Amino acid sequence: MTRPALLPLSLALGSLALIASASAPAFEAERQQGGVTLHYQDASEAVPAAVRDRIIETFFKAYLPERQDFHPAAPTTVNIVIDPDYDGVAYVGEKSQAATITINPAWLAKHPGDTDLVTHEAMHIVQGYPEYANERVPGWLVEGIADYVRDRYGVDNAAAGWALPTTIKDGQNFDTGYRVTGAFLKWSEARHPGLVKTLDSALRSGGYTPQLWQKHTGHTLPALWAEYAKALPRG
Ligand SMILES: [Zn+2]
Repeated sequence: MTRPALLPLSLALGSLALIASASAPAFEAERQQGGVTLHYQDASEAVPAAVRDRIIETFFKAYLPERQDFHPAAPTTVNIVIDPDYDGVAYVGEKSQAATITINPAWLAKHPGDTDLVTHEAMHIVQGYPEYANERVPGWLVEGIADYVRDRYGVDNAAAGWALPTTIKDGQNFDTGYRVTGAFLKWSEARHPGLVKTLDSALRSGGYTPQLWQKHTGHTLPALWAEYAKALPRG
């Protein structure tokens, strides 16, 4: 397949690039740890060995406890695929792709310290919710839990300059998602232990409703957020 984005580089390298593509480098590895098998594929060897080793190490350090703590029946075989054609950061797909983490190597080249993106994506495999982005499985909560978990299980979030926010900005709400919801979950979990596990298992079983927050914490979701927002400095 043609990759227009790589064309200028190929032109610049001229015949050298042709020779290189004739014997295209490829890296594939299989690693096992804690009853989990990881298949790592980088068809164009786009990620340097040092970053690759940290990704693999981070995967096991994050996925094994995430799986044990939230969903011990989560997949025991996982794929990490480095895909230069993917222009986002990283994602976990649905159905046959539900145990595959796809990573854009250009992102890692620009942010080599961000290997804990794997910690967030690995949680999506553990989540394994039957749906995404609807009333039963709200996208903001799915992503908020994955960032809550990145904060809790991350190997070196500081290397990426990544942290949950400690202030509130205008316009933010419980459903802002990602780190904003992750920080709200962390604060709520500290006051109402077991909340995140309760939400996670309800999302997996199809039993999630907003009333679950009230049942577990004694506050409606908007009231709990209001309390949280009052406790934090404006940023
Ligand atoms: Zn995500």
